[in-house]
Amino acid sequence: MKILVINCGSSSLKYKLFDMDKDSVIAEGRVERIGENDGIITHQAVDREKVNKTKPIPEHSVAISECLSLLTDPEVGAIESLNDIKGIGHRVLHGGEYFKQSTLVDDTALDQMEELRDLGPLHMPANILGIRSCMKLMPNTPQVAVFDTAFHSTMPKHAYLYAVPYELYQRYRIRRYGFHGTSHNYIALRVAQLMNRDVKELKIISCHLGNGASLAAIDGGRSVDTSMGFTPLEGLMMGTRSGDIDPSALEYVMDKEDVPMANIINMLNKHSGLYGIAGAGDMRDIVQGVEDQKPMHMLAFDMYEYRIRKYIGAYIAAMNGVDAIAFTAGIGENTPSLRAKICDNLSYFGIAIDHQVNQQRGEFELSTPESKVKVYVIPTDEEIMIAKDTLKLITENNNKSKQ
Ligand code: ADP
Repeated sequence: MKILVINCGSSSLKYKLFDMDKDSVIAEGRVERIGENDGIITHQAVDREKVNKTKPIPEHSVAISECLSLLTDPEVGAIESLNDIKGIGHRVLHGGEYFKQSTLVDDTALDQMEELRDLGPLHMPANILGIRSCMKLMPNTPQVAVFDTAFHSTMPKHAYLYAVPYELYQRYRIRRYGFHGTSHNYIALRVAQLMNRDVKELKIISCHLGNGASLAAIDGGRSVDTSMGFTPLEGLMMGTRSGDIDPSALEYVMDKEDVPMANIINMLNKHSGLYGIAGAGDMRDIVQGVEDQKPMHMLAFDMYEYRIRKYIGAYIAAMNGVDAIAFTAGIGENTPSLRAKICDNLSYFGIAIDHQVNQQRGEFELSTPESKVKVYVIPTDEEIMIAKDTLKLITENNNKSKQ
């Protein structure tokens, strides 16, 4: 059975077509610079020629049409007809308190997602547009929404509430939601497989370190805390996001510089983090700067590492223990010096890594046999999780309608 997974961002769309009988990707691609005259399309189906082309992509529906016609193209496609696609899984940023798990999309679900638009103004409009466009182009194909927040819906109230007047939660649902949930869930399940243990018996800290970065404390397979909050701005230092900051400092800067809150939030999202300190938001540049002994690059690296280590300590306390720590995403998978510094500074907890092994790429265990805590690098795979949830929901739905 073929399942299409779509990740529709504000100016780009990524897709992967899965053959679920083999758990394998049979085609994938991306459309970038949506809304521009020089949109970039890349597409690759297994054993077919790669496609790279540039053409105007005025809106998301055009991007999706492009993707569907490439998938069915006799030369470079992977399927004969769109009818071969039995379901489409969409990555959606925010499920608010409505969606504690993935859902088949119907009018009610769409209305609820529309209500959550303001909680993710950068991502939600594009996520919803992606779903609506697919519904129009393939009206008989079930659409499933998979939410970045859903995995964290198991957090206890004492972890997800902010210590502000409770009415703000009652009135506006101001609380920690957390993100990267699909990735953290994948990592927890994969750690359990690698340890040959039931995830229900394990305490795991998942470190998703990409452009956006978050940690999750996962106890018995359930998220019990995570570093991102009401929005993805809270928590760790990131590529261009500040992470935690005292809100009073914001008011102070607003007064001094006479700028509105929107500018400050924009600064915290786009001009802070590694970029704010070193003028480079990409970890590769930071690592190079550290090698070249550039002081601000070294400072940015140290700040980035320190914040992760503090959160790991906090989550060991939150769970009263830890069996495994796993690093994933662009930075987590590709920066041995960061992993080494974090782990070496956690020796108090009996964490020890093999520095030679730590240089590897791909999926591997880097903890030594003596280490009290297992440490892994695991490339994340959010798309396969989305595809599996999509398959599960459409199968359940088919069975229900047969009864
Ligand atoms: P996202 O999906 O959140 O956009 P990614 O998971 O692709 O982000 O991670 C992007 C980050 O990964 C960039 O900051 C980049 O610095 C880092 N990265 C990617 N490859 C490498 C590498 N080889 N070495 C160090 N950092 C890398």
